[in-house]
Amino acid sequence: MKEFDVAIIGGGPAGLGAAIYSGRAMLKTVLFDKFGTGGQLNSYEKIANYPGFFEDTPTYRLSESLLAHAQRFGAEIIYDEITSISDDGEWKVLKGLADSYKVRASIVATGVRYKNLGVEGEEGLRGRGVSYCATCDGPFFVGKDIVVVGGGDSALQEAQHLTQFGREVTIIHRRDEFRAYPDLREMVQKHPKIKCLMNSTVQSIEGKDFVEGIIIKNVVTGEISKMKTDAVFIFVGLQPNTEFLSGYADLDDYGYVKTGEDMSTSKKGVFAAGDIRIKDVRQVITAVSDGAIAAQSAWKYMSCRK
Ligand code: NAP
Repeated sequence: MKEFDVAIIGGGPAGLGAAIYSGRAMLKTVLFDKFGTGGQLNSYEKIANYPGFFEDTPTYRLSESLLAHAQRFGAEIIYDEITSISDDGEWKVLKGLADSYKVRASIVATGVRYKNLGVEGEEGLRGRGVSYCATCDGPFFVGKDIVVVGGGDSALQEAQHLTQFGREVTIIHRRDEFRAYPDLREMVQKHPKIKCLMNSTVQSIEGKDFVEGIIIKNVVTGEISKMKTDAVFIFVGLQPNTEFLSGYADLDDYGYVKTGEDMSTSKKGVFAAGDIRIKDVRQVITAVSDGAIAAQSAWKYMSCRK
């Protein structure tokens, strides 16, 4: 079994931030990811508010720099999906789909995924007009009608991105007010290609082979209507990728990891960083910062045990 000082699970900004600090602390560091690094950065086109990256820098520039930086400090990258962590005396055993690994400390940074809306037609038409990634799927809908569901930062930001492709983008939100940042709210109100349908929910998504339309309910009047559309992009919040930790480290009712200020979890030697933690602000900068703190804590944890 391959052995490391620190294993970082997840290659998004939190994981890469941890790898930079762990590598620099001369710890034998491995970072696991399923297919490639970048995490949620891969779902967005441009960086809006990461310090030093202004003028709409493409996100891949930041993720490539973070990866190169981690590798420069000696972090090894292994593409394997970790499915469980268990204790073996002083060691942690990480089981992956390809192999198993022995490590002294782990930093879990597996991030979040977009939640499903949970309506009829969503599952069957996924990839056929139903999408959770505007950067990945937007180019398929040039000149088409697009619906975006949700009222948070993701929905409004991605609606703006989709205007490059769609003829018209309609945001459907269940309340009469968006929860997104004020600048995004102002943008959607002024944007000539964006329409907002407030107090409305999507009841079902219809289509034979591809999305053809949706059924909408006005939650104030109860009125049901039909709307033609070619695509439904769903941004209704986040779900932490922590299923493999369930029963091992303490999670809250939504699956987010409970941590201390030093990113320690309820399991000694296991730290968590980034969007999977219980916290208020989920941004690239806070994820990278969590990663740095987690790596420092892992280093301290191992120093005390020598
Ligand atoms: P979010 O802030 O949790 O917003 C989810 C939205 O979906 C809310 O408007 C919510 O409505 C709506 N919603 C939830 N369940 C629904 C359902 N079943 N049916 C219809 N609508 C539903 O999620 P997010 O926008 O993905 O953002 C997540 C985090 O990432 C936030 O902390 C955000 O600030 C951050 N983020 C930041 C940026 C940026 O800074 N540029 C970009 C993207 C995300 P209600 O409002 O009625 O609850």
